[in-house]
Amino acid sequence: MHFTTLREAPSDAEIPSHVWLLRAGMIRKSVAGVYNFMTFGWRTVRKIEQIVREEMDAAGAQEIITSPVQPAELWHESGRWQVYGPELWRLKDRHGREFALGPTAEEVFTDIVRNEISSYRQLPRNLYQIQLKYRDEARPRYGLMRSREFIMKDGYSFDADPAGLDESYAKMREAYTKIFTRCGLDFRPVAADNGAIGGSGSEEFQALCDYGESDIVHCACGYAATTDQAAGVDAPAADGAADVPPMEEVSTPGTKTIEAVADFLGVPQERTLKALLFVVYEDLGAGGASPAPTDGGTPRAATPTAGYAVKEYVAAFVRGDRALNMVKLRAALGGVAEHLIEFADEARMGAATGSVAGFTGPVGLHDCRIVADSEVPGLGGLVAGACKEGYHAKNVLYGRDWTADTVADLKLVGAGDPCPQCGAPLAIARGIEVGQIFQLGTKYSDALGAFYRDDNQQEHPIWMGCYGIGVTRTMAAVVEQHHDDDGIIWPLSVAPFHAIVCPVKNGDAEVAAIAEGIYEDLLAAGVEALLDDREERPGVKFKDADMLGIPLRITVGKKAAEGIVEYKPRAEKQAAEVSPAEAVRLVTEAVKGI
Ligand code: ATP
Ligand code: MG
Repeated sequence: MHFTTLREAPSDAEIPSHVWLLRAGMIRKSVAGVYNFMTFGWRTVRKIEQIVREEMDAAGAQEIITSPVQPAELWHESGRWQVYGPELWRLKDRHGREFALGPTAEEVFTDIVRNEISSYRQLPRNLYQIQLKYRDEARPRYGLMRSREFIMKDGYSFDADPAGLDESYAKMREAYTKIFTRCGLDFRPVAADNGAIGGSGSEEFQALCDYGESDIVHCACGYAATTDQAAGVDAPAADGAADVPPMEEVSTPGTKTIEAVADFLGVPQERTLKALLFVVYEDLGAGGASPAPTDGGTPRAATPTAGYAVKEYVAAFVRGDRALNMVKLRAALGGVAEHLIEFADEARMGAATGSVAGFTGPVGLHDCRIVADSEVPGLGGLVAGACKEGYHAKNVLYGRDWTADTVADLKLVGAGDPCPQCGAPLAIARGIEVGQIFQLGTKYSDALGAFYRDDNQQEHPIWMGCYGIGVTRTMAAVVEQHHDDDGIIWPLSVAPFHAIVCPVKNGDAEVAAIAEGIYEDLLAAGVEALLDDREERPGVKFKDADMLGIPLRITVGKKAAEGIVEYKPRAEKQAAEVSPAEAVRLVTEAVKGI
């Protein structure tokens, strides 16, 4: 067998799934974020794919396959060629025609459907594929978790009306629940942000895990959402706004942070106003591989790169003790793409708008868009920057001294904040997003012209949903949830092999024959079995079997001649002494139960 293990993982492998998949020889890195799959790893990928396929088919979806090479024209039609930003892996052919390596395939599937569906009689349809996807992630990391090339199942439903979409969505939600359950994951569906995909209504399937990259808030009442999506609950409005004394400038030298100014003036942070300053760029459509102004989610102060022009400056205000949620801010600005907004360069913004680093407040700003968190108008008189070096203003009152261009929920919700559903304090957990389902509505059918005719020959846009599962990320998530200090503990459903037979007395013909007999019996019973007939010490064999995570082991050793072998599930500490026939029966029974 082609099988090589590593004594140690490379230093860039930080999380258990990355470490163990490499050490057990399941995957091998090609370049950053691109992996090759070896014998054992590929078998597990195919197991997961098969589970996905069975449940998708059972839910009425049909598998097709499209090319990952997608013409740029389709992306221009949907408007996403620019919105998607530098994550879109672009290429040109020898004639200079542009293409993208598909990060997802809404355009391609909508194109297929607009060409092939014209009547209500052809609806509903649900089409899916299991295909390599490409995203030029700013920071590929954690092995299969965030890679630049990965396997995704993406599916798209097409219905005549919103009720049909609801039904298709519900079926997919159920199929996803079955898929992740069969893969052995501890997961939960949570309300989610629509991101670059667009549309309304979406849920993510999050595998709970300490190393997850998503923050999820949840509550005993059943509410669960990503922190990007969780609705903030406004503080109750203060009474007596009419009695707030006039605004008053005070000298606050050197107090550039909320903590410093609150301390200096002896007021609680809740009585202050925090300013966050951004620049929004316009993509000039220079095309090609655009230089990225952001590094994946977290904006940083940078200079505009070629191909981008400053569109506007934005000052966002939240209560002093709150944090700002970037996803909510981008939505409040009308859906600014992640790569087109970042923290403003203070000197440049100051010259254009009157902001002053560390002393910016809403009064005195000009030529910039002011966005306020929804609770800010109700907070009464606050301490805010005076737009003057070394000065703040007291009693700054919304409605009297300033107003915002946009008021929206901008709060980052965290542990202990009130649940938007029942008010109890929220708990926080980390998760790995293994799948996401979206109600797209008519966003893509309108943009690309995917219409159907009803009974009366009237044209209507098709209602779409889209449904993704990260197959290779699911594999990593399974390892995150199923491993110990010795390696992986695959659930039987996705294990590369169900069972391993280990003869541990090298050179003993009788032991070898019994082991081979057990192995043959297992194969005959339909068990995916391995026979470790290498001339290795028992310790080496056990170590490898454990690292690989083969769920069931039969050890044939010194008591074999008396008709006794050992049966040991990988997840258990103790082995049981049984007859060879009993061992075969135990394994076969376990495998039947998958
Ligand atoms: P993320 O927020 O983690 O970047 P996403 O929300 O952009 O992911 P979707 O567009 O919802 O991803 O893609 C569907 C699924 O594909 C995700 O739920 C995830 O399981 C998987 N996926 C997305 N990006 C990656 C990646 N870089 N590496 C591996 N799997 C990924
Ligand atoms: Mg997603």
